[in-house]
Order: sequence, then C-alpha cells, then structure tokens
Amino acid sequence: MTVYPKPRIPLRPTLSGRSFFSGRGRLPNILDAKNVRHVTSGRVAIALALNELKVKAGDEVLVPAFHCTSMIEPVTWLKATPVFYRITGNTAVDFEDIERRVTNATRALLITHYFGFLQDTMRLRALCDAHGIALIEDCAHCLFGEIDGRPVGAVADYAITSLTKFFPTYDGGCLASSRRSLNEVLLQSAGFAFDAKAATNMLEYALEYGRLKWLSPIIVLPLKVKDRLWRSVKRNDDSPIGPGSSDGGYGFDSAWINKRASLAAHFIAAAASMRRIYDVRRRHYLKLHAAFGNLPGAEPLFADLPEGIAPYVYPLKVADPQRVFPALKQLGVPILRFGEYLAPEMPPGTCPVTAELSQRLLQFPCHQELTDDELDWMIDCIVRTFRDGRKAP
Ligand SMILES: *Cc1c(COP(=O)(O)O)cnc(C)c1O
Repeated sequence: MTVYPKPRIPLRPTLSGRSFFSGRGRLPNILDAKNVRHVTSGRVAIALALNELKVKAGDEVLVPAFHCTSMIEPVTWLKATPVFYRITGNTAVDFEDIERRVTNATRALLITHYFGFLQDTMRLRALCDAHGIALIEDCAHCLFGEIDGRPVGAVADYAITSLTKFFPTYDGGCLASSRRSLNEVLLQSAGFAFDAKAATNMLEYALEYGRLKWLSPIIVLPLKVKDRLWRSVKRNDDSPIGPGSSDGGYGFDSAWINKRASLAAHFIAAAASMRRIYDVRRRHYLKLHAAFGNLPGAEPLFADLPEGIAPYVYPLKVADPQRVFPALKQLGVPILRFGEYLAPEMPPGTCPVTAELSQRLLQFPCHQELTDDELDWMIDCIVRTFRDGRKAP
C-alpha cells in the first residue's frame, strides 16, 4: 500500500478562535428534533435506532448500495440482513428498486442525503408508511436543511448524524427523533480518560495545523502530562481509550453503544456558530464549483447548490482516478472517498452507478475552518493536476 504524505491542510474541521461566537442565527438542523441523544459516533446512532426498532436475526433492513461500511455493520451486528437498493446517477434513491426489494421481513429503510443534498424524503416517508416499515434518515452529511417546512430528520422515525463531519470534535454522533421517545436509550459516561482524550486530541489537531498558536505555550505542559498519563493507563489495560470511529476506522465497535459523547463534543455542538458553518461551507463549495467547472477529465456531481443546505464536501467525478488520486495525495491535498470500500455482503452487480462512483468519485473538503489561502492552494493543486493530464501523451 502506498504511503502518502500527511495532508498539508486539514481534512476535517479544526478548532479555532473563530469556531464560536460569530453569529448564532437560527438555522433548521437535525439537532432541533424533540428528542436527541449524543453518542460517540454516527454508526452507534444507527445501531441504537435499529435496536429501538427491535430489529433482530431474520429481519431485513433496506440500505443503499452506495454506502460506507460503518452504515452496514450495525445491521449485521444485530444479525439482520442488509438488502441493498440502487441509487441513480446523481445519488438520488431509486424508488422502483426499493419497492422491488420490500418483503414481509423488511423492518426499516435507511436513506442518506449524500454530501448534504436532500433526498425526496416525503415520498420516502409515504413509501415506508404504505409498507409499514420504519424510516431511518442518515443525516451524517447534512446537519442543516429543511424538508417540507421542518428540519431534516423530523419526518423520520429515527435520524442520525455524525458530529465530527461538521464540528471540530474528536468524537460524536447523534440519534434524534421527533416521532418517537428515546427514553429507553440509556447512556453512560465513557469516563474521565475518554473525556480528557477527546479534549486534548481536538487541541492537538488544531495545533498540528497552526491553529490556536497563542494557546500552544499554555497547553504544552498539560499535553506532556497527558502523554505520561496515557502510557500509565495503557500499561494497566489493553483496551483503547477512544472508539475506532474517532481514529479513522470504518468498523463498528459495540463496546461504545451505550456511551455518551465526550464533554468536549457536547460543548462544541452546543456552542459552535452554526451560522458560520453554513455560510462558510457554502462559500467554499461555490468557489470550488467555479474553479472546477471546465476541468478536463472532471465533472461536478451536482450542477448547483440548493438554498438551505450546508454541503459536507465537494464531490467531483474523475475520468482518470488512477492518475489523479495519487498525484494529488503526493502533493498533500486532502481527499475523501466515500463509498470506496463497500460491504462484502453486497452482491456484485447490485448497482452499476455505485460501482462507478466507488471508483471515480473524489471528495474535497469545503469545511468552515479552511482559510482562503488554504482553499486557493488546494484549488491550484487540483486545477494544475487535471490540466497536466491533458498535456501528457
Ligand atoms: C460517516 C458516516 C456515517 C457514520 O458516522 P461515524 O460518526 O463515522 O460513525 C454514517 N453515514 C454516513 C453517510 C457517513 O458518511
């Protein structure tokens, strides 16, 4: 496996002084739901939703062919059967394919608003009601948005999100419901070591990318103390202090199912400026869109950015990923590839669109903590890389 240099600019949001207090205007978002539980990851929230629905062995759960494996593992963890449905070329769900796959054993339909772009959720709600199955709305990519005059997540039986994709937190996901009680979802603290790790990891990530420079003389000592503390904790106990979901893993670890999000994640989700996340992500996205419009060998996945949503990333379809991806990674450009790895349970040939996107779709960050200089640098790298490809024999 090729080892690429560390990204030169942050892939995920970093903590900075600007993360807070820059206007807290009301924007409809998934955390507006009547009932919300903060857990350590989005995948844990999916598992809790399925658990609340009493999904068990023999039951079927409709899941999208285009997915990350952390969306599917909670289904197989409960020994239920994931049944994969197709998506269309712009990542909208294929309604006819879903209808075809509903059986007497179907208990729930999991849908995703890819990259922040909303599915036809009211039609999905109607489909679920017609078949008597539950709707689980995966809002990991769309913290913000409104559907039929109500915040995203409101019409689902359960909605989930992943806080680390929008906030500068080490951990965090939410289970939300405006339709059902979450009184039986009982959570406990993961303990002091986890809270300390979540807070210090967030600070270290920020310092790594030159944020919070004024803070570094103050926290160098506590970070040293932390390193020693970790070593002593590790000596007594082999289990990791944080969940794999926070350290880039795709797996689902049931040990974290009943654990509350860290104090830091609770605080950031409550205090971060949502208005800034919304405004800056949209501005960054549109800047990338303008720059990538006429690139040879590249095609934006979406033609425009609808009002009301804050995009997760900028998705770009690439004609020659075998050349472009390693070239950009060598330059230190941060890239995500949602759907690159697909669940082994999915029969081959299930969804030709997914097969293509899995190979050809790259995603670039547009998060609120990128500076203008960083964004310009990234655009320059990407534009040059595509243009070079055209000149090459
Ligand atoms: C990231 C992601 C998840 C899981 O979120 P984690 O917080 O990483 O567990 C679920 N669904 C989608 C669509 C995601 O992108």
